[in-house]
Amino acid sequence: MQVLGAQAIEALMPMQRCIDVVADAMRAVSRGEVLAPLRSIMPLGAANAMGIMPGAMLAQGCFGVKVLALYPGNGARGLPSHAGVVVLFDARDGVPVAVLESNSLTALRTAAASAVATRALARPGGEVLALLGAGHQALWHARALAHVMPLRRLQVWSRSRASADRFAQGLDLPGQPEIVVADDARDAIEGADVICTVSAAQDPILHGEWLVPGQHVNLVGASVASACEADTAVVQRSRFFVDARASAQAQAGEWLRALQSGAVTADHLRAEIGEVLLGQQPGRQTDDDITVYKSLGHTAQDLATADMLVQLAQDSGRYPDIDW
Ligand code: NDP
Repeated sequence: MQVLGAQAIEALMPMQRCIDVVADAMRAVSRGEVLAPLRSIMPLGAANAMGIMPGAMLAQGCFGVKVLALYPGNGARGLPSHAGVVVLFDARDGVPVAVLESNSLTALRTAAASAVATRALARPGGEVLALLGAGHQALWHARALAHVMPLRRLQVWSRSRASADRFAQGLDLPGQPEIVVADDARDAIEGADVICTVSAAQDPILHGEWLVPGQHVNLVGASVASACEADTAVVQRSRFFVDARASAQAQAGEWLRALQSGAVTADHLRAEIGEVLLGQQPGRQTDDDITVYKSLGHTAQDLATADMLVQLAQDSGRYPDIDW
């Protein structure tokens, strides 16, 4: 069995390959090849919880589960708010083949998924990226998006100026794009071709009236039905895409709020990103469209990324198996 911790995953850091692997995984989702029960959240008293995301990609030869502890108060103790593992099994014989640290894997696959959506939906050639949020996801999104756009300028905003400044100072991207810390979210998205919301905000930080034709938005940070990083006008003004219909209809806060308010009808959800990648549904139709990709994260992204990391680790010869 392989055991891959955060350092190993960061050292392997196969971003370009991960973007292609996640694109294939999302095609598999939209072909109906992935078994993916809705993730469940089990309360552990007070504010804490355990999250469980099982799944199977039998055509790809694997199944597994991500198990996470969600401890929102951990920041005050200097510990991560999310911690957990992904367990990967070989579907041919049911043997567990690997245990991987879940935060790095999740950051890698979530950013890769946004890069896949951006490559499919954004206007080609966009040079300006805006990030609303300056945490772990923001860092990996900057790394991933640099693979799918000729990044000249990155505009970042966060709730606290100090964390945005820290983020900007620590960023080291190929091509050395200009990094600008914005005073507010509206300033941050001005002139941006691509916007990623990557915060833990529960209420909108992005407003539809701020958007201009042609922009592409990845909504990443809100992953439960009660949270929204973007207001209803963002959904209403956009061609709206999701990673998976079933989970979006159950857990995508921005979508559910727009639907329940009557601002949009069910057919406003244009397609899964996999359907666009398979050529089954159109993506952007004109340069003036505003496109939105709502990311909730999918077990197929976890499994496919875990499988890729295990292969890379084995090929490198640097991570010997442990006895099991
Ligand atoms: P971090 O804790 O590293 O960063 C959180 C960021 O959100 C910081 O910029 C913080 O600002 C900001 N923030 C926190 N609370 C608020 C608030 N109430 N209003 C506005 N901004 C706020 O978290 P991550 O980067 O790891 O994760 C970001 C989000 O992405 C989380 O909500 C997480 O659940 C979600 N996520 C989504 C995934 C998906 O597949 N779609 C996968 C994994 C995570 P500051 O530092 O300035 O206070």
